Parts: sequence; structure tokens; C-alpha cells
Amino acid sequence: MANLTLYDPFLKMDFSDKECFLCGTHLIVEEHITVFPENLMERYDLQNRELLLLDKSIKKFSNLHLPCCSVCKQKHLKPLDDEVDIALEQGYEGIKKLDENKLFLWLGRMYYGILFNELVAEKRMKQEPEHGIGYESKMMLKMHSFFQLLQGIRIPIRYADFTPYSLFVLEVDPTEDDLPFEYRDDINTQCFYLKAGNVAIVASLLDNNTIAQTYQRPYDMLKNKALHPVQVAEFMARVFYKAYLLNDIPEYFPREPKEEDEVLVLDTLIEDTMEDTFNDWEKLTYSQVLTEVWKKWDIEQYVVLKDFDNPLSFLFSKDNEVIEIKQFKLSNFI
Ligand SMILES: [Zn+2]
Repeated sequence: MANLTLYDPFLKMDFSDKECFLCGTHLIVEEHITVFPENLMERYDLQNRELLLLDKSIKKFSNLHLPCCSVCKQKHLKPLDDEVDIALEQGYEGIKKLDENKLFLWLGRMYYGILFNELVAEKRMKQEPEHGIGYESKMMLKMHSFFQLLQGIRIPIRYADFTPYSLFVLEVDPTEDDLPFEYRDDINTQCFYLKAGNVAIVASLLDNNTIAQTYQRPYDMLKNKALHPVQVAEFMARVFYKAYLLNDIPEYFPREPKEEDEVLVLDTLIEDTMEDTFNDWEKLTYSQVLTEVWKKWDIEQYVVLKDFDNPLSFLFSKDNEVIEIKQFKLSNFI
């Protein structure tokens, strides 16, 4: 019988480097993987990039680790990293064809890796809790749910009749793109964004697909169109803000496996109506999120809100057509 037992570090809140992050195996000697996959770091020369943690400590990407046993590393993570790397080689076309769940697990490991390092750093400086993300129960509920999904890296998991996340894959026009790699995460809303070459992936990792369903139409319109980075940033802002408005915390219930089962099945509770799924969209708050992601283009909030009812958009015209931008000039829009 396949071992279909989920590991749950959130039961005892133990985030030490003595246990494999994925299966909980006790590690006698130090073993780890990097948070950002090795081949991704090589491809984009990321080893010396730095990450500022919430406790204000700085870590190089090459020193951002997750404790990991050799079985999980060789049997589960390496094949996943290799498969995504081959897809990345072909950029947008490759990633578009990749199995969505694999992409989710690949992103999920990076998201979780950053969070894990935050939790470890927080433990180090418990005396000053105001800097940390805190072990608030809501956050922990989310992490518990998310971690069940992440177990899909080592255990074959099937979602009964739902998709737990929303993933958007966009093509980036290289003409005015000066960053071969960038990423952004939001620990609280479980959002992750990663741009590598001509592909950008925007993910809401724990929303039971509600954002994908809400944005189906605009996303369909944007598929296979090479977007200017300023447009990609806008789409990211829409997803990140929408995730912030999400009310529900999805819960997952593993079915008791039978002797002969090779796959663990997860069930969830789905609301009949989307009505209360999201809090109201506030244009003012959204414009702040936009201003933040548009920082490098120096677009100020008052410009975004010049027409308060229709915040500035570089994605869609007033007639709801996709705007084509080769060279970006703010004065063309205001
Ligand atoms: Zn392991």
C-alpha cells in the first residue's frame, strides 16, 4: 500500500532544521534544498540576490534553505524542478503547456520556503513580536490548508471536484522588459508572482479557484498576447488585491484511504454562491496596490485616480479592448 499519510508541521508548530520540511523525517546531518530551485537560480544568476525578511535580516538566495531529506530531494523535488526547467527553456509556450498542478507545486515550494524562513527568523527574535507575521490563528488555518496541498509534491493527491488555486500564465513582450527575473509574494494572501524571461505567472495559491473564475473573461482576452511589463504588473495587482478581499479560508478533508489506494483524495467545501466570497472592491485601496506595482514607472496615485470611477488601466480600453503597447509613454494615457 502506498504511504498516503499527510505530514503536518503545523500541529506542533515545529519549524526546525532537524526535520524534513516535506515529510517530517528527522535529519541526522544537515540536509537541505534551496528555496529557489537550483536550476532556476543558475538560469537567471540569482545566487547573490538578496531577500529582506520581515525581521529586517537579509539573506542571499543561495543561503535561503529548507531542511529536506535526500528522498524528498531526489525522488520528488528534483524531477519537478527539472520538468519545469525544461518548460522554462521554451518560455511562455513551454510553461503554458505544463501541467497546471505541477506549476502550482513548484511555485508553492518557493512561497512556503520564504514563509518557512520568516517563521524561523521570527522564532529567533520572539522578543520583538511587532516585526513578525505572528502565529495568528487565521494565518495558521490558511497555512494548514495550503500545506495539505503542498504535500502533493511527495504524495499523489487528487482534488475531488475542485481546483484549489488560481493560476494565470501571461506572455511578456521583451521589447521594454529590462528584468529577466522578478518575483513578488504576499505571505498573508498566499499570492505569488514570478516572471522569468518572456513568461509571467500570477498565482493565488489558496482560493479554491474563485479568482480564476472571476477573471476568466479578461484572462481569456489576454492569452497569447505579448504584454508590456506595465500591463503584467497591472494584472498582478488585480489578482493580489482580489485575493486580499477573499473572505473564505478553504478547508480540505482527506478521504480515508483504502488498502489498495494509490492516490489520496481531498474534498473541500464549496460555497453555493460567490456572493459573499469577496469583500467589496475599494477603488482607493486598489489604486494603492497599483501605485506600488507601478513604482518603477513613476505613476503616482493621483494620476491613477484622475477619473475616480475608472482607475487608470493599461490593459483594457474604455471599450473593453486589450490595449497594445510596444513603447510605454504615460502621456499617451492621461
Ligand atoms: Zn523528506
